[in-house]
Amino acid sequence: MSFSSDIKDELIRVDYEKKCCRKAEIAAILRTGLILRKTKRKKTLTFITEHGLLSRYLYTQIKHIVKKGPEIYGEKTPRLKKHVVYRIDFNNLLENDEQRSFLEDIGIFLDLDKGTIEYHKYDIEDRCCIRSYLRGGFLSVGSLTNPDKSYHLELNFQNKLIQTEYMGYMEYFDLKPKHITRKNYEIVYLKEGQDIVDYLNVIGAHNALMEMENVRIMKEMRNQVNRIVNCETANLEKTVNAAVNQVEYIKYIDSVMGIENLPPALREIARLRLENTHASLSELGKMLSPELSKSGVNHRLRKLEKIAENLRRGKP
Ligand SMILES: [Zn+2]
Repeated sequence: MSFSSDIKDELIRVDYEKKCCRKAEIAAILRTGLILRKTKRKKTLTFITEHGLLSRYLYTQIKHIVKKGPEIYGEKTPRLKKHVVYRIDFNNLLENDEQRSFLEDIGIFLDLDKGTIEYHKYDIEDRCCIRSYLRGGFLSVGSLTNPDKSYHLELNFQNKLIQTEYMGYMEYFDLKPKHITRKNYEIVYLKEGQDIVDYLNVIGAHNALMEMENVRIMKEMRNQVNRIVNCETANLEKTVNAAVNQVEYIKYIDSVMGIENLPPALREIARLRLENTHASLSELGKMLSPELSKSGVNHRLRKLEKIAENLRRGKP
């Protein structure tokens, strides 16, 4: 199953902090996910999801609230044989006052003549309920890419008011959602790993959060290892190139004036360099007696370089 689907499984098992929160969660699921379909014959108020557990969960929750509950269907989509879509129909609701008042209570008003759903603002004051509202929204219209690939959390709203309201509730928890309109959908998204982790924390998806953090740590470690390897490769190249250069100018000095004519300190290091072309400066330093530091070796090699330069220019 997908990462999104796993999160939804987890969220459905989350315990409510209080009873009040259940209503907020159901409100969010319905306010973000209801569709009113109008055909010539009839109008259907329906909620569609690919998530089987969510459909059964929503169905049961509503059964608790209204006596004459909705109907639930599982349908195989014609194109993809194994793919099942779950549909909850609220047809009774169109004639039934009890159900209708239940919807109106959560800010959902049906205009049957126009075949549209109108939403009123749904104000929530308690922190616990806002959290549940955010959770319900993700259950209904949220998705998250597998963090192994990239970090992208998205909620697709059909309605501008609902989108603004949802973003407001996200901001209440100091989340920083972004928004874009795409093909009649109002899309709210998060792209930063840390923002997504914070969001998962707010809605109570703690297993998903841990999994995401593990992936982030692994990625971070991999990056660090890469950085170290790159850095070492770069240093190694520098060392090798420098050594090649040193050997070149020492050989030049030897051919023009002979190494044996150098002052003793320089003669010694010149010989060692020629005999140990792969040694690092500190390794060369340790071959001397008394030992010489890396910078001491470097200092002498620079002197040799200077001599070679002078010889090339014809100076003594
Ligand atoms: Zn609450």
